[in-house]
Amino acid sequence: MYKSSIELRYLYKTYTSNFVNNNIEIKKDKIKLPKLKYVNAKIHRYFEGRVINATVSKTSSGKYFVSICVETKIEPLKKVSGNVGIDLGLCHFAILSNGEKIQNPKYLKKSLDKLAKEQRKLSSKEKGSNNWNKQRIKVARLHERISNQRLDFIHKLSKRIISDNQVIILEDLSVKNMMKNDKLAQSISDVSWYKFVTILDYKAKWHGRKIHKINRWYPSSKTCNNCGHVLDEMPLYIREWKCPKCDSIHDRDINASRNILKQGLLEIA
Ligand SMILES: [Zn+2]
Repeated sequence: MYKSSIELRYLYKTYTSNFVNNNIEIKKDKIKLPKLKYVNAKIHRYFEGRVINATVSKTSSGKYFVSICVETKIEPLKKVSGNVGIDLGLCHFAILSNGEKIQNPKYLKKSLDKLAKEQRKLSSKEKGSNNWNKQRIKVARLHERISNQRLDFIHKLSKRIISDNQVIILEDLSVKNMMKNDKLAQSISDVSWYKFVTILDYKAKWHGRKIHKINRWYPSSKTCNNCGHVLDEMPLYIREWKCPKCDSIHDRDINASRNILKQGLLEIA
């Protein structure tokens, strides 16, 4: 038996009520909550299982969310033979050791550009004024939209990776360090990488898959996946390189993800 609940970012205020005497219930477009009875709601996901509690949150843009924690039984997926190494990309969201490069969805780029624009507008307004407050809500809504779009993308991607692979190897990245980055787009993509790993972790537990994180000091970008030769340095701008020892030509990210897989399988064995 596992507990699951939906996480929300940019929360403002929250409270949680436990389930007693059917005080929490979901109907087609309504939700029954303690003290409130039935309220209209947009239901994002239906579920099966025993309700444990409901958490109501108000976001900084003034929207309300309810997340329901349910206890449900999850059947492990059938075993598969696939293994995958995943590298966090610079130009892509992720690169898989099978050579697949996973793009960030285009709609996210659009929303991020818009966010940057609206944020500039916000900083030009007088703090505390009416206009500033209106703009603040606009920015908060955009943050929420981006967060939801990211989450949706991450859920779909993690589902696919879990169903195709038995063993999943990643680098253990220090997210605390990553989040110090002051570039907005970058910091948001760091957050989604962190979230992606968190979701992969729990889905792997649900479905009987193995996740392994290799040491983040392992030189996955500088090592030739063919002969094991390690370069002295690998500047970020280099996208493709030729190994001086075995003459293999490497795509930087695919080579790294293959090394991640190789190293991870070694560590597990
Ligand atoms: Zn080589």
